[in-house]
Amino acid sequence: MAHLITLIPGDGIGPEVADAARLVVDAAGVEVDWDVQEAGAGALEREGTPLPGRVLDSIRRSRTALKGPITTPVGTGFRSANVALRQELDLFAAVRPARSLPGIATRFTNLDLVVIRENTEDLYSGIEFERGSEALERLRGELRDLGGFQIREDAGVTVKPISVSGTRRIVRFAFEFARRNRRGSITLGHKANIMKFSDGVFLYTAGAEAEFYRDVWFEEVQVDELALHLVTEPETLDVLLLPNLYGDIVSDLCAGLVGGLGLVPGANLGWEYAVFEPVHGSAPDLAGKGVANPIAMIESAAMMLAHLGESAAAGAVGRGIRAVLSEGMPRTGDLGGTASTGVMARAIARATEQALEAR
Ligand code: NAD
Repeated sequence: MAHLITLIPGDGIGPEVADAARLVVDAAGVEVDWDVQEAGAGALEREGTPLPGRVLDSIRRSRTALKGPITTPVGTGFRSANVALRQELDLFAAVRPARSLPGIATRFTNLDLVVIRENTEDLYSGIEFERGSEALERLRGELRDLGGFQIREDAGVTVKPISVSGTRRIVRFAFEFARRNRRGSITLGHKANIMKFSDGVFLYTAGAEAEFYRDVWFEEVQVDELALHLVTEPETLDVLLLPNLYGDIVSDLCAGLVGGLGLVPGANLGWEYAVFEPVHGSAPDLAGKGVANPIAMIESAAMMLAHLGESAAAGAVGRGIRAVLSEGMPRTGDLGGTASTGVMARAIARATEQALEAR
């Protein structure tokens, strides 16, 4: 029976890399009934919102989505559709593997990192007070009364909630993930020395939960120190467990360690729904040129296939990608080549078919 999957091409380079992923899923021999849903810039223009309700309805039906990036205006304008999607569907865990790939020259070799990022809380909760607003004026007054806190009159404010319940579920998820995938250690990044009541909750809740998972090594480190470890001795790290904001930043750092944003996939998982998407954004500098690297999106599709129980197909896509990269050709611009997104996608599709035949 065909899998019902919501496909959100997104905007910017999204539709280009989504076409590539679809081609490779077809080559992997998996039957899919794609429910294509427009979101992002096009939806905003036509429907007044980048994330129309029909997109969420579709995922609630299919339970699984493959998603391209969606642009978010910086500093002003509407709220991130990506953050809204994760919150609406309670996709509390982001899983972002960053692995060294054959034929990709990087400073470090043999890296095999996984970022597990809490996806719903922290500074990304969307609790914001605009500079000069009446609401912020009242908040400033309350904070003055409550604790003598002084916030400058010309400040804007973003609130950082981190809960025990929100932390407990991501910590359990991380430990179960480590067990299932035979990963030896989890390193938690925090800044609880400064943010005692938000990162403090993350740190202490995780420490308590870790007691139930003695078979997985657990360590905590301040996130600035983690940044140093990542650029000096990343081979010593395994699973990284982070609150939302640090997880976002460290994901890109890890992508850089293994060859760039064009290569790193991701999954957003909750109890009921799963949305697979690359770590990269809509890359406005490349959009419409047909030159984006489709591998991150294709790898995201492979993660989705594994999630759906199509492990043979997922494995074949992975081997197809590695075969093409090992050969050194074709390559997109980010990898030092001149190939288009389509040429790269067709090469991976062919290599995927060959990987299936060679089984
Ligand atoms: P970006 O990831 O879009 O681009 C950063 C750099 O990486 C650019 O130089 C870009 O050309 C390059 N790059 C990204 N993907 C690539 C690919 N597949 N192949 C080759 N090169 C690639 O990050 P940004 O510029 O900070 O963000 C652009 C927009 O995307 C913003 O509006 C941002 O909010 C949004 N964004 C969306 C998501 C998402 O949908 N999940 C994630 C991150 C950023």
